[in-house]
Amino acid sequence: MDASLIMSLRRKPIVLHLQFFVIGLALATVSLHAEPDREKQDCRRQLSFLYEAIQAHYKRYQRYPNWLSDLVPEFLANPKTLICPRARSLGIRGPEADGILRTVYSDPKTSYSYERCIGALERDIWKGAPITYAEYKDAQIKRVGSVVPIVRCPNHGVHLNLSHSGIIYESGLYWEELHSAQISSKELDPEHLFAAKKEKEPPPPNILTQPLATLLPEEEDQRPPMKKRN
Ligand SMILES: [Zn+2]
Repeated sequence: MDASLIMSLRRKPIVLHLQFFVIGLALATVSLHAEPDREKQDCRRQLSFLYEAIQAHYKRYQRYPNWLSDLVPEFLANPKTLICPRARSLGIRGPEADGILRTVYSDPKTSYSYERCIGALERDIWKGAPITYAEYKDAQIKRVGSVVPIVRCPNHGVHLNLSHSGIIYESGLYWEELHSAQISSKELDPEHLFAAKKEKEPPPPNILTQPLATLLPEEEDQRPPMKKRN
């Protein structure tokens, strides 16, 4: 037998193995992508359920729930709906994904951020009289409408936003940037929205224009009263 033919016959199984390996790798890559995609779709479905539950709560009590877990069990029979499927498979909650720990994530029974919770804005974003996230969202709605998210999920490489009107849309960390043609992000900040409630620091005394007497503490007259002369 021709030596080159023998070599080619010997090589064939290796080539076949390589082909299977490449096909296997491709399939594994597809399934790796398919899983997050499926979880994202499932998360969108859960957000729709959450919207229906929030609407039902609003209809019955004429107000939004204070926290998302308040919906269970009256408006949401299955508490698992409060956990994003991606967060469940990764074994994480919401805040760990974007590294931001905020009051909106402080409900221990959900992985979602509840944007209009009754928790107060943190001191690093607002230094005036206490304002709740619910008040903050209402003020934003007045400026930009019902696109303002009510629930958000940070676990899919992008943020999934459920708006106050029930539409689900994707954005980066700052959903406000999507509306920058309409309104600047700064105008939707608490600093701008609640400018009237901002803490006012007393101005320092102006020693150049103030009369000296008002800057010095008043001294009491320690002299004995003068005797009257007869
Ligand atoms: Zn999710």
